[in-house]
Amino acid sequence: MVKSIILQKIKKTAIQAMIPVIKIRGIIRNFPLGQEIVKVLKGIDLDIERGEYVALMGPSGSGKSTLMNLLGCLDTATAGSYELNGKNVSNMTQDELAEIRNKEIGFVFQTFNLLPRTTALDNVALPMIYAGASKSERITRAEEVLKDVGLADRMDHKPSQLSGGQRQRVAIGRALVNKPSIILADEPTGNLDSKTSLEIMNLFDEIHAQGNTVIVVTHEADVAKHADRIIRLIDGIVTSDEKKKLNNN
Ligand code: ADP
Ligand code: MG
Repeated sequence: MVKSIILQKIKKTAIQAMIPVIKIRGIIRNFPLGQEIVKVLKGIDLDIERGEYVALMGPSGSGKSTLMNLLGCLDTATAGSYELNGKNVSNMTQDELAEIRNKEIGFVFQTFNLLPRTTALDNVALPMIYAGASKSERITRAEEVLKDVGLADRMDHKPSQLSGGQRQRVAIGRALVNKPSIILADEPTGNLDSKTSLEIMNLFDEIHAQGNTVIVVTHEADVAKHADRIIRLIDGIVTSDEKKKLNNN
């Protein structure tokens, strides 16, 4: 009995290792605007494997944030299919999407989006409340994550008492706290100076090196060069998708 449960688990893990974390097909996103329809995503197919480090690039208005919001289950497509970890999320209800988002996705925004009157520790612990963790579990895990992002000495600070880079570290901690399948970051260095940007990108490199799947939207070549694969979007269509050549030396 126990043996068969273990075998089932191994089988499930092996299958999960083979299927892409993200598989989207024919994704279209239109927005009604007055009498018109704005066609933003015009048919996107994409597979992203577990452990990839992807930069999503493209001019302003090309649909990068729209695509990230769909990948992050913050929005749903007009047409097309989306499988996240083998689960079809295209037809889920708002409640089901909220649950998937909490469990599987860590989102990092350009403007940090922290609760202003809440400490770093409580900002990071917040997603664990929705995940149903006990208070002691939440505190232990949030402390661990804040140490990992280099903020061991800032846990009781509120966002206004932190620098931009530190705020983004808190937001990254919050994204990591539920151990999601993917980390999505939409221009995470867009509000930071170049030195702080580099520190934040080094942190994403570490997070990736620990086995996480990371997708970063950026305008900047300096940021994109941290990734192993660069996907370019122009006017709602993928125009190029290049993997960095592995250097075996
Ligand atoms: P990017 O992140 O690449 O700069 P966005 O995905 O934010 O681009 O936006 C792409 C296009 O979609 C823009 O032209 C924008 O005006 C339009 N758009 C985005 N969201 C909406 C919306 N809710 N309603 C109407 N148009 C939208
Ligand atoms: Mg954007």
